[in-house]
Amino acid sequence: MKTLGHLINGNIDHSEGRTQDIFNPSTGEVGGQVRLASKSTVEEAIAAAEAAFPAWRNTPPIKRARVMFRFKQLLEEHADEIARLIGQEHGKICHDALGELQRGIENVEYACGAPELLKGEHSRNTGPGIDSWSEFQPLGVVAGITPFNFPAMVPLWMYPMAIACGNTFILKPSERDPTSTLFIAELLMEAGLPPGVMNVVNGDKEAVDTLLDDPRIQAVSFVGSTPIAEYIYGRAAANGKRCQALGGAKNHAIVMPDADMEYVANSLNGAAFGSSGERCMALSVAVAVGDDAADKLIAQMKQQMEGLKVGAYSNKDNDFGPLITGAHRDKVVGYIDSAEQQGAKVVVDGRNPQVAGGENGFFVGGTLIDGVTSDMTCYQEEIFGPVLLVMRAESMDAAMKLINDHEYGNGTCIYTRDGEAARYFSDHIQVGMVGINVPLPVPVAYHSFGGWKRSLFGDLSAYGPDAVRFYTRRKTITQRWPSAGLREGAQFAFPA
Ligand code: NAD
Repeated sequence: MKTLGHLINGNIDHSEGRTQDIFNPSTGEVGGQVRLASKSTVEEAIAAAEAAFPAWRNTPPIKRARVMFRFKQLLEEHADEIARLIGQEHGKICHDALGELQRGIENVEYACGAPELLKGEHSRNTGPGIDSWSEFQPLGVVAGITPFNFPAMVPLWMYPMAIACGNTFILKPSERDPTSTLFIAELLMEAGLPPGVMNVVNGDKEAVDTLLDDPRIQAVSFVGSTPIAEYIYGRAAANGKRCQALGGAKNHAIVMPDADMEYVANSLNGAAFGSSGERCMALSVAVAVGDDAADKLIAQMKQQMEGLKVGAYSNKDNDFGPLITGAHRDKVVGYIDSAEQQGAKVVVDGRNPQVAGGENGFFVGGTLIDGVTSDMTCYQEEIFGPVLLVMRAESMDAAMKLINDHEYGNGTCIYTRDGEAARYFSDHIQVGMVGINVPLPVPVAYHSFGGWKRSLFGDLSAYGPDAVRFYTRRKTITQRWPSAGLREGAQFAFPA
């Protein structure tokens, strides 16, 4: 059985130590093992990244960008292999894995624009004979810690831009599905990146805490659940590091009575159950305005959900695959049980799906729950499974209040034909990413991704223009070359 190592200074490292099983969630079988880096292994990676920094910092941005161009090409050439690796360990259906990879590649494309993005700002004659400019310098060694649900895309949100900006990088991927992540990092080395610029340490809390505490790490990007995001942000900030920590979500869709209900049900079907609901942008709550809208929505959803196919990643006909672990499947089923116990009605029940050949896999079928109220556990917490909750509100304002009162503020959407209502919604809703008849308003790579409230800790969002700012430090230089005519005596006050 294969044991996955680390990528340190351009080599695969197999330091002895603790290991963890990696499961194939479609079968429930152990498919391999991953090494869990000790403090000293992480320190070795940090030393390699620190040693690589001075030369990489001074490499012209256009040469750094050329590595990204080659990397993009290699990612495209190996797309099917990457999708298979994601499927084996995450369970994501091939076409969904290819979609995830495509979104990641778009971030590599954005990083190819580094020479343009790093140009800086220049002002001539800010005073007599004085010029002033700001340049954006790399930070040094920076780290990324990523979740299981996008093993290709989320790491690609981080390191292509960090590296294109001139930093060196240490990635700590999810220990639950690390193989595609490591494979992709090896492609970056093949693209011509010098050893030590990109390193991958597999591991758990021990590796993460080492990254958070080591003074050589200048900045930390984190994506994962909210309790861990809060912990990471607090510890990194206490250690004086720049940090952005993206957390969990509870994404609501408001369904207005004038919405095209067939379109709504169709798009909610994909947005709630795609990737088994294991997306931080999954729409997990539909708030229908008025009982009539709610009843029509339920009827349409029941019809649409009849065709849902849950099964193994390798069958392209399946709509979504298993959950990541047996423990997570049990947790999701527990939320459905609790909804029922607290008075909601399970309209479509995915607790015991029949999956031929997947009897030991971690499957839950698409589940629709009506009559959910804001005091229920299933509403208050992130379920992260193929479960759509339906709530009823008396008015659009009441629906918006529910969203604004929720602790998470990642994504949201309104379904309506009324432009005025949509404009009011996007203006006043307390959520970072908003869709108007668009269920998954994930920004493209040349915008930036980030929620509000307890969905993001830190000041800057992920990828896009915010990433250029996150991975660089502004330095402003003011210059004068004193010629005879401009010489002045000592000045003791700002010129008035
Ligand atoms: P997780 O928080 O369990 O793990 C994320 C990372 O943190 C992993 O690398 C893990 O090894 C590490 N980690 C876990 N426990 C730790 C601890 N005690 N100390 C230090 N490090 C620790 O998240 P997950 O289950 O892998 O991913 C799912 C979660 O991520 C969901 O909550 C989802 O909403 C969220 N997510 C958010 C976004 C976003 O952009 N906001 C994107 C993807 C996923």
